[in-house]
Amino acid sequence: MRYISTRGTAPVLSFEEAMLSGLARDGGLYVPETVPQLDAASIRAMRGLSYEEVACRVMRPFVGDGFSDEVFAGLIDKAYAGFGHRARAPLVQLGANHFLLELFHGPTLAFKDFAMQLIGQLFEEALTRRGERVTIVGATSGDTGSAAIEAFRGLEAVDVFILYPHGRVSEVQRRQMTTPVEDNVHALAVEGDFDDCQARLKDMFNDFEFRDGVRLAGVNSINWARVLAQVVYYFSSAVSLGAPDRQVSFTVPTGNFGDIFAGYIAKRMGLPIDRLVVATNQNDILDRCLRSGAYEKGNVHASISPSMDIQVSSNFERALFDAYGRDGAAVAQLMDELGEGGFHVSQGALQALREHFDSGRASEEETLAMIGTAQMQMGELLCPHSAVGVKVAGDLRDPATPMITLATAHPAKFPDAVERATGTRPPLPNRMADLYERPERLTRVANDLDALKSLIRDRIAG
Ligand SMILES: *Cc1c(COP(=O)(O)O)cnc(C)c1O
Repeated sequence: MRYISTRGTAPVLSFEEAMLSGLARDGGLYVPETVPQLDAASIRAMRGLSYEEVACRVMRPFVGDGFSDEVFAGLIDKAYAGFGHRARAPLVQLGANHFLLELFHGPTLAFKDFAMQLIGQLFEEALTRRGERVTIVGATSGDTGSAAIEAFRGLEAVDVFILYPHGRVSEVQRRQMTTPVEDNVHALAVEGDFDDCQARLKDMFNDFEFRDGVRLAGVNSINWARVLAQVVYYFSSAVSLGAPDRQVSFTVPTGNFGDIFAGYIAKRMGLPIDRLVVATNQNDILDRCLRSGAYEKGNVHASISPSMDIQVSSNFERALFDAYGRDGAAVAQLMDELGEGGFHVSQGALQALREHFDSGRASEEETLAMIGTAQMQMGELLCPHSAVGVKVAGDLRDPATPMITLATAHPAKFPDAVERATGTRPPLPNRMADLYERPERLTRVANDLDALKSLIRDRIAG
């Protein structure tokens, strides 16, 4: 399986190379050259299998021969062994034909653990085999950083540096990043906001001398291996509701478009998905775009669902690439226009997007109200991101088709909003109940490229 860039000019890579490099050198995102197909019989044969077995069957055709079947299966088992639920991604019923897919039983209580835990294992295996080391640098508004640190802590072949905006992540998120004791973990509190962190990260990747010198690797949500790991739970949940002999739809609380793009890949592979519903909070660039065709940057407004507070949705580029008939030059042109503030999706491309995607948004008030309603009427405590999903699913779903809404984080990860909505503060699961007592370790840094570069160079040399 070969991987090509959405902007058409970066080198074609293998799965392993695309995973280890993250961002393509032409600024684009790697996508598989063709999407492997699973026929109805192979999908039917997934009934009753464990999550890990489904994961093997879904991901194997994308991975190529870098990993043997046996090694790959072993890495999957290791990746999900630390989850707090046997089913890994259990499905619970909210109402008639409406289901919630709980993706928050991983070690940092958000769906990002599904991908991050696996790529931690894949990186370690690939790098050890190659006799190489890499420096992982990531920027986070909270969940990605904690998931990355948890996945890479203590691994031999990797140093991990996470830039987060000082004073602007939740206490649980911060403690998940600052309490691991391993020497290869570096939590960097940047004097700035999330956009500053992301801008400095981009600067580092565009500084080819630095990038090659420290062997920089990226694990943000544009890394193809992360998208791939997320395809699995679309299969496991749809199969448990009767796929391939029954269609299902999904609603996905969306920020960077990584999670819902994984659903689109599942559909392209042959899983009978009817609608993929993009659910956004008040930062609704995607909802506006799917309605009007105008993709225009606005200002980010801080919300109670902070992991969806985005200005630009990076993985949307992958969907655009397909909607434009895989024309890398057209995508590069759109991204140039985005640099100037925005672009209009062509009529043909918009039609192609609407064949798969619907969209809706939830305001802050609607989100809080939904958390309350879900607790009272459905017996389910939702985090604010999941509440955005359940609200939008309720507005848009077709009662005749089962709707699966993705629950992207555990309510205890966002206790303030949940307490505001319900009057009760959700407790952390037992296995991490001492999080508030563990000592913290972090480094404050200026919002300055040179300061960051020298700090990273010093740390990996020492
Ligand atoms: C990252 C995140 C999202 C958004 O996912 P994308 O793949 O960026 O669209 C939604 N909810 C939670 C809790 C998250 O951590």
